[in-house]
Order: sequence, then structure tokens, then C-alpha cells
Amino acid sequence: MPLSPREAARRTRTVRRVAAAGGARPATRRGQVPAGRGLPRETVAARSGRALEIVRRLRARYPEARIPLRHTNPFQLLVATILSAQSTDAQVNRVTPTLFRRYRAPADFAGAPVRELEGLIHSTGFFHAKARAIQACSRALLERYGGQVPRAMDALTTLPGVGRKTANVVLSGFGIPGIVVDTHVRRLSQRLALTPHDDPDKIEQDLMPLVPREEWSTFSLRLIYLGREVCTARRPACSACPLAEVCPSSRYGGVPPWMAGRSPRGNPSTRAAAGPAGRSP
Ligand code: SF4
Repeated sequence: MPLSPREAARRTRTVRRVAAAGGARPATRRGQVPAGRGLPRETVAARSGRALEIVRRLRARYPEARIPLRHTNPFQLLVATILSAQSTDAQVNRVTPTLFRRYRAPADFAGAPVRELEGLIHSTGFFHAKARAIQACSRALLERYGGQVPRAMDALTTLPGVGRKTANVVLSGFGIPGIVVDTHVRRLSQRLALTPHDDPDKIEQDLMPLVPREEWSTFSLRLIYLGREVCTARRPACSACPLAEVCPSSRYGGVPPWMAGRSPRGNPSTRAAAGPAGRSP
């Protein structure tokens, strides 16, 4: 869908504002987005239009986009998201019913015998670190927020073990839009030439002005679905991809020159942050 001149101008201003705040690098020529790590050159308006078409196609492909981690309240979603690092949704969903029957509130988790807690979450991996993170986070909630999960990014990211990715998942659970950058979103954003960055926070900043705010949460969920099913780390199936016509990587079979030297699975810190998406297939 072509952008109106007014909308194109608005998006150009937004991209420049984000760039000035440390996100994408500033434009070098009138209307041109810098290539960055060999990304194809295109105007801000063209990239914005392409991003909107990606949003539209993803919505058509995945009409239902729900947080796949089972939970009945924000605190359970926070715990499940901490458990999902370096694990899969299915693994987390297998342990949380028993876990949440045993411990219901932050006070229960904070006072739980650590060995017992570790035993209940063992199968999700990294159980020592996750048990410590959940207990530290529960104590912080009790001490600073009366046992309630705060509804603001600034407050959430002060909690032990909670970065922007986890905070965005929790905010999405409150119905507050947020772009969750996990290993799939990072890889697909790079293949789709929507960002030249590897750092999840910078990728989030690059995507925010390109995607309508109300679509932020569902956009990242849908990218995760596509990353699992079609645009996998090892074998991107471009010939079967609904985004092929709007993806600059399709002509390279999903292995474009600007990804050279990058691991499609991400660097160790990005993988450690892998959240509700679970691992790449
Ligand atoms: S066209 Fe290929 S590289 Fe692009 S999103 Fe689809 S599968 Fe991934």
C-alpha cells in the first residue's frame, strides 16, 4: 500500500528522531536510509511501505497471535518468561502448571526452598540461575512494588533478571504494545533488511518507527511464528515464504551478503535472551 506524502514525511521524521536517540543511523542523503552493513539502499518511505506490507502479510498468514506461554496473571507471565530463556514454550508450559499450583504469589516464590524450586523447573535448563532470578525478582516485587508487577518498562527493567525483552513480553500481557526481540525477531529483521544491527535494543529501536504501535506485540509474535516455520536459522524456505516479494534476502536464498559473518542463531548474549520464542529449530 503506497504511503501518502504526509505519512511518508511523518515516518521520515520518526526514523530521524529515533536515529538521533541512538537507534538507526541518520540519513546521509535526502530521503535515503544508510545501507549499514551492506543493506540494500532504499528510501525511508520505501522501507516504511515495505514494513507495512510485511505487517499485512504476516497478519494474513497468522490471524491469531497470542502469547504462547501459559499464564493467568502478570506475575505468572513474568515467571514463565524468565523460565523461557534458552528453553522452548512447550518445555515451559510443561512445568508451569505444577509450579503455579505449588507457588502462587511472589511471597511463595521468595520463601520457597531453593532445591525444591530448582527441582520443579529443572527440565527448562539453567535451573540454578533461573531459580535465583525468580527468587530475586519476587523479593524485589515484594520490597518495592507491594508484590504487584509494575506496568512500566522503566520499573520492570529494574527487577533482577528482567531486560527489555522480558519486560516487553510482560507489558504485552497487560495489553501495552511492545516489540519483543528474541533470536527469531533479530534474524528475520536482518534478513528482511529492516535493521543493520545485532544488538536487540537497537533492533527494537529500528523496528518501532516502521511498525504501527498497535501492532508491535503481534508483529513480533508473528515474526517468531514465521521464524520457526519458514525462515528458520539453517534453512530459510524462501520459495514457500509469504514475504518473499518484499524480502530483499529472497534473491539470495535467505543468505544475503549483509548477513555474511553473522550467525543466523545470534551471538551468545542474544541467544541467552531468547525468550518466549524458544530455540530456533
Ligand atoms: S523470503 Fe526467505 S529470507 Fe526472507 S523472510 Fe522469507 S524465508 Fe526468510
